[in-house]
Amino acid sequence: MESIRFVKRLFQAYYKDQQKSLPSVSNLLKREFAFIPWENNIMIRHLGFKSLDFLTDYLINNVPKHMYSSASLYELPGASKMDNKNYLGCDLIFDIDADHLDTTCKEKHDFWECKSCKQSGTGLSPKFCPNSDCKSTKFKKITWICEECLEKAKKEIFKLINEFLEPDFGINKDSCFVFFSGHRGYHLHIENEKLRKLSSHERREIVDYITGNNISLSVFGLRKSDRGISYFNQYKLGWPRKIMLKLKNILSIENEVELRNRLNLYPLSKKQKNTLIKERKDIIDNIVKKQRDNWILLGFGIITWENLLLSLAKNIGADIDIPVTIDIHRLIRYPGSLHGSSGFKVVGIEYKNLESFDPFSDPVIFSKKNFLKLEIIVPEVPKTRVREITWGPFKMGEVLDLPHDIGIFLLCKNVATLK
Ligand SMILES: [Zn+2]
Ligand SMILES: [Zn+2]
Repeated sequence: MESIRFVKRLFQAYYKDQQKSLPSVSNLLKREFAFIPWENNIMIRHLGFKSLDFLTDYLINNVPKHMYSSASLYELPGASKMDNKNYLGCDLIFDIDADHLDTTCKEKHDFWECKSCKQSGTGLSPKFCPNSDCKSTKFKKITWICEECLEKAKKEIFKLINEFLEPDFGINKDSCFVFFSGHRGYHLHIENEKLRKLSSHERREIVDYITGNNISLSVFGLRKSDRGISYFNQYKLGWPRKIMLKLKNILSIENEVELRNRLNLYPLSKKQKNTLIKERKDIIDNIVKKQRDNWILLGFGIITWENLLLSLAKNIGADIDIPVTIDIHRLIRYPGSLHGSSGFKVVGIEYKNLESFDPFSDPVIFSKKNFLKLEIIVPEVPKTRVREITWGPFKMGEVLDLPHDIGIFLLCKNVATLK
C-alpha cells in the first residue's frame, strides 16, 4: 500500500504540473471517459466532461492508475447506458501490441511462477505446472518489454501506413495520428468524417484486407488456362502487386545458398525449388513485363502456385490487434496520461518523428536525479533500459537505491516494493 501511495503522489504531482498543458482530444465534449483507480482496478466509466479544465481537475483530485477516452463520439457521452448516449460515429483505430507479436525476445524476458509450488520458468507459462507433485494451472505471469519487441511494433505501424493505408486506402500519412501507449505498443487514429460512419462490419472488412485473412487468389485472377497458369504481374494493384513484388524480391537474392535458405520457408519440394532457381530470371521477367501474364513451369500446377503465393501473403499483412479496430465502443488510452503499469506517458507522435521516437526515453517523465530504495519481490527482473542507462537483471530480495525513472517503472510493473 505504501508503494501505491508513493507512486500516486508522484502521478498527482505530474498532473498538477500538466494543468495547463494536458493535450485535448478532438471533440472532447462528445467523448466518453473512463478511469481505473489504483485501489481496486474496477473501471469507472460513462463519464463526460464539459471542458479540459474539468478533466484536469478530475485527474488531480482522483489520480487514476489508467485513463481512457472513447474512440466514438456521442451526443450524451455521460449517459449511464450505451443506448442513451446517442452514438454519432467512431474514429478508425488500429492497435499494435508487442504482446501479440511473434518475437524471440519473449523467451528471454517473460516469466511465470507457479502460484502453489513457486516453480518458475521463462517464456509463455505452461498449461500445467511441470512439477509432477503439483500440476497446478495457476501462474503469476510477468510480461516485459524490450527494444526488440517495441521496435517490431513500430515496424508494423510503418507497414500499416506505408503499405496499406496510404497506397490502398488513399489515407494520407499526415492525417494518421500515432500514439505510444505508454507500455507495450502503438495506436493509430484516423479522424475523418466519412470513416467515422463505418459500421463494425465494414471495419471488419478493412481488417481482413490489412491482415490478408481469407485472401482468394482466384478473385485476383490466378487460374489454369490452356497456355499454363494465368497470374498477375506487378502492375496489378493491392494484394496481387504486393505478392508479386515479394516473389520478385526473394528470387532476386543473388547468392544461391541464401536464396535456397529463403525458399526453404515455403511449401516446395526440392525439385520445385531447383526449377525456381533455374528459371528465376525468366520469372522475374514475367513479373516486371506488363504484357506477360502466363506461367509454364515444370512441376508447377495451380495448387503449387496457390500454396506458394498464399504463404508469401502470410508475411505481408500487418499484425494488428483485430478486435480494437472492429469495436465501435472502444476506450483508448488518453494522450498525456500516465500508464499505471509502467509510469510512462502516452505520447502522440507526428509521422515524421516516428522513426526517431525512443519508447524507453521519450515517454519517461520521472526524474533521474531523485532516488528511492526498493526491494525486488519476483524471482527475476529482466534487463531494462530507461533513458541512456540499462539496469538489471535483478534477483529476488535485492535491495537497490535507484533513480525515480527506473524505480517508478519497477513499482508500476509490480516487481518491487518500497523499502
Ligand atoms: Zn507448481
Ligand atoms: Zn521484447
